[in-house]
Amino acid sequence: MAERVSYQRFPKVRIRELKDDYVKFELRETDPSIANALRRVMLAEVPTLAIDLVEIEVNSSVLNDEFIAHRLGLIPLTSDDAMGMRFSRDCDSCDGDGQCDYCSVEFHLNVRCDSDQTLDVTSADLRSTSPTVCPVDVAHRVLASADPNSYDSSDQRGILIVKLRRGQELRLRAIARKGIGKDHAKWSPAATVTFLYEPQIHINEELMETLTLEEKRAWVESSPTRVFGIDPNTQQDFGEMFVGYNLIWAVYGCLWVPLTILCAAEFCFAIAMMLNCLQLNELALHNNEVVVVDPEAYTYDEEVIKKAEAMGKPGLVEIYPKEDSFIFTVESTGAIRASQLVSNALEVLRQKLDAVRLQEDESDFGELSAHLHGGG
Ligand SMILES: [Zn+2]
Repeated sequence: MAERVSYQRFPKVRIRELKDDYVKFELRETDPSIANALRRVMLAEVPTLAIDLVEIEVNSSVLNDEFIAHRLGLIPLTSDDAMGMRFSRDCDSCDGDGQCDYCSVEFHLNVRCDSDQTLDVTSADLRSTSPTVCPVDVAHRVLASADPNSYDSSDQRGILIVKLRRGQELRLRAIARKGIGKDHAKWSPAATVTFLYEPQIHINEELMETLTLEEKRAWVESSPTRVFGIDPNTQQDFGEMFVGYNLIWAVYGCLWVPLTILCAAEFCFAIAMMLNCLQLNELALHNNEVVVVDPEAYTYDEEVIKKAEAMGKPGLVEIYPKEDSFIFTVESTGAIRASQLVSNALEVLRQKLDAVRLQEDESDFGELSAHLHGGG
């Protein structure tokens, strides 16, 4: 057998920002393949609940049955229990019927309009048979009403399903099932999952010093996002003002030297001022320094590189992506918390790797098994 090489790495995660429906984190010391696997699992393979079967009893609204069923499917449901539930196709309690407590949650909706005013039927009219599963916006409203400091939004009427006029009625039974985004987007728990390669930016300082202030400004502004800036601490005006001021004092001091040759203090003062002046002149050479303000604002658009070439200064800046550092932005639909989305995705990824490990064949998966076992 070929010698096994270990590719095992120990990725590190650092959370930058965490809210219920949003998380931003760094993933370091791993490969792009792992970052991308994590992204794809978050989008398409973390299970949630969504309405999957609708039995219409009465529908005299203007929308047809299929239209209403589709709209119901797209309502996000609180899915904290989804990981522990069964897929209806694998459920042996109901033989794949998909209507038992292990694999489904039942909803009822019964609304009739008896007034002259148009009645909005919303997600708030859905009655759940489970205490933990309900439309996400309804759950938010319950939480918000318990918190006296929360804002009172006039938009808290739920997700609109259909509008009814006098005499119209909608009565139905709906079954929510566990599913994944790969089967239908209604089961995807993620609104956004993106990652960017952390950029590494090197400015050629020597070449940069050959640019005039106007050229530097033009170059900095050529980036569509604010990646670079001119360091305000090294602004030229500031430097020049002080150089001029000190020069006056130095000349003044020197003129007085022959007249007050006995006055040692005055002489020292003059020397000190001259030295100070030289030092500031030195500083003035390094003014208007171009600095990296926000490397992560860089979108790999290469505008600054093109601009440098157009100015006849190729190699002014070098930007390349770090191959082992990624910055993730994850937004949840509210079905599960963003932090839960990430940890569930890692769990799903682990289960998938376990499945590969179980069916591994030494001859076919030599290198892969070495990777999974960390060599040895
Ligand atoms: Zn079942």
